[in-house]
Amino acid sequence: MKHTITLIKGDGIGPEVSDATVRCVEAAGLRVKWEIAEAGEDAIKKYGTPLPESTLDSIRKNKVAIKGPITTPIGTGFRSVNVSLRKQLNLYACLRPCKHYEGVRSKYPGTDLVIVRENMEDLYAGIEFEMGSAGARKLIDFIAENEGSKIQSDSGISIKPISRTGTQRIAKFAFEYAQKYGRKKVTSVTKANIMKHTDGLFMRTAEEVSKGYPDVAYEHRLVDNMCMQLVQKPELYDVLLLPNLYGDILSDLCAGLVGGLGVAAGANIGDEYAVFEATHGSAPSYARKNKVNPTAMILSGVLMLRHIGEANAADRLENAVAAVIKQGRDVTYDMKPNRDDPTAAGTQEMADAIIRHL
Ligand code: NAD
Repeated sequence: MKHTITLIKGDGIGPEVSDATVRCVEAAGLRVKWEIAEAGEDAIKKYGTPLPESTLDSIRKNKVAIKGPITTPIGTGFRSVNVSLRKQLNLYACLRPCKHYEGVRSKYPGTDLVIVRENMEDLYAGIEFEMGSAGARKLIDFIAENEGSKIQSDSGISIKPISRTGTQRIAKFAFEYAQKYGRKKVTSVTKANIMKHTDGLFMRTAEEVSKGYPDVAYEHRLVDNMCMQLVQKPELYDVLLLPNLYGDILSDLCAGLVGGLGVAAGANIGDEYAVFEATHGSAPSYARKNKVNPTAMILSGVLMLRHIGEANAADRLENAVAAVIKQGRDVTYDMKPNRDDPTAAGTQEMADAIIRHL
């Protein structure tokens, strides 16, 4: 079957890692028409917005997009493209597999975790009151009247909403992912002992949802304890289900366990649309040098292939990436024992080696 997929190349190192990914995905056997869509700094110059409506329309039409990293403009008043995409397309699940590949430097060989992070709620909902603002004063007065507790008058306030419906859908996503990919256990992670009405609701709702999936084990851990457990015995865990903020932090922790940003793939998924992208940013100082590691974006391509039902192509591509990393010869500077190694491959040369292994 021929697929039409929206391709956003991004900026900084985005175009290089996107080109490497496109070549690998096609070589793995995907029959595809790429619909190129713009976003980021160039789009601001052309359309006056970093996320033009035509780009959103393309994703709405094709349902699936793959995206290179995009620089977040500072001081322009524009919202980050990444945040806008999540909100506008209702991409409520952030998926981050953290798997160790032999040959990647890591203190935790064999680690194979999947993070499922809620993407829309929690302290990231963007509901904030600036210190000294009328809104902050009103809220402080309201709380003093209703709760009897005093908040310092010179406080800034961020609101943490966590809903039952939002938690139900992310918990279902985690259990369904576990079932589909043969994972044995889902661990929800919160601070429910302290924030009873937000994290507590998340924990209770996740437990309720778990009852509908008797073939997948379920447990809960407190987030502080979980951080310690992950650096001591990550092999005890499988799929981690987290609210937004803890999910953000533990995603990076787990990426660190398996070798860091160069290999950390990701996806933002909703009921209708999915956008696949590496965890790393646009690393502008490396742009156009053919130097950075394309692995994270190529592995995001592997996730995309699985999502669109191209499991054979996904397995072949993942095995080819694993083989090149294991061999350790045609890998980029960051994967060499010494970062100044003159034999390090460039971005495209590493992609060529992956293609040869397909
Ligand atoms: P970054 O991930 O771009 O880079 C940090 C450092 O990580 C780089 O200097 C480099 O040493 C290393 N690195 C990153 N990707 C690598 C790769 N593929 N191979 C080898 N080394 C790699 O983080 P930053 O500097 O904090 O952010 C730069 C810009 O990217 C910012 O504008 C930020 O907002 C944006 N950003 C975008 C996304 C996205 O589009 N999804 C995600 C994160 C950050």
